[in-house]
Amino acid sequence: MTPDDPYLPAPAEVIEVIEETPTIKTLRLSPITPLQFRAGQFVQLTVPGVGEAPFTPSSSPLEPERVDITILNTGTVTEQLHRASPGQMLGLRGPFGKGYPIETLAGKEVLIVGGGVGLAPLRALIQTLMADLERVKRVSIKYGARCMEELLYLDQQKQWADEDKVDVTTTIDRPQPGWGGRTGVVTTLLTDVDVDKSNCFCFVCGPGVMLKFTTQTLLGEGFEPEQIYLSMNRRMSCGMGHCGRCNIGPHYLCKDGPDINYALIKDYPDVF
Ligand SMILES: Cc1cc2nc3c(=O)[nH]c(=O)nc-3n(C[C@H](O)[C@H](O)[C@H](O)COP(=O)(O)OP(=O)(O)OC[C@H]3O[C@@H](n4cnc5c(N)ncnc54)[C@H](O)[C@@H]3O)c2cc1C
Repeated sequence: MTPDDPYLPAPAEVIEVIEETPTIKTLRLSPITPLQFRAGQFVQLTVPGVGEAPFTPSSSPLEPERVDITILNTGTVTEQLHRASPGQMLGLRGPFGKGYPIETLAGKEVLIVGGGVGLAPLRALIQTLMADLERVKRVSIKYGARCMEELLYLDQQKQWADEDKVDVTTTIDRPQPGWGGRTGVVTTLLTDVDVDKSNCFCFVCGPGVMLKFTTQTLLGEGFEPEQIYLSMNRRMSCGMGHCGRCNIGPHYLCKDGPDINYALIKDYPDVF
């Protein structure tokens, strides 16, 4: 979708609402024009009369006529989006940003680390990789949520794990009745992680504090800054590098990111 005026949202109809967890819903949208995007690019989603907010589609770019946006209810716009129902019209601007550097992943191991709703943008990456697993050597997915009820995409996690080249490990923060899996924050899944560190790229998405501690853990495990891509989901407004809300040094996260190589930003203050 490329409207002549990049500030003008194009109509998109809500065709399905999926209740993922008590705080997270996925809106399945049918944009008036199929949304051609790369995994990791983001859109500005408008609730008419309320406002707009940035989200990274959680669905596969291979299905541009049906776009999933997975949304944590956190404030004004997201609360209205949680009230959306099938048939409602929203607005969509974008896509913006660069998207994940899929081309660099040929023959590589890929370590994907998600925290909470951070698995949503990563799902577009995972689905892109799953569509052509020959391209990569292996995919390791490490995912953490606060509690069992907040775990996203459980059925798909099982499908991903069924692939020989893919392993999925999930943890919740604290033990809970009925949970037989790992406990502890997601960084606990990264110590002695079973990947070939010399041939691996890491993609991390989650809350700011999770990005910080995950980066520290990966560096401590011997990864180089150049091997780590972070989803820097800061406040963004225009999406085109004009308003100056989201830059780290010379890097505009809306244009050069939102997934950015840690080596490019590591020396700037207040990165996290
Ligand atoms: C590129 C990008 C991709 C994103 N993808 C997703 C996604 O796939 N799913 C999803 O649920 N969320 C995503 N987000 C975050 C989402 O944009 C915010 O949650 C949303 O803008 C909040 O709007 P609101 O009006 O509901 O909240 P507000 O009423 O504006 O704020 C509510 C609270 O959230 C905080 N907040 C608002 N925006 C941000 C932000 N960008 N970063 C940190 N804190 C914030 C505010 O400080 C406040 O505490 C993404 C953000 C960016 C920049």
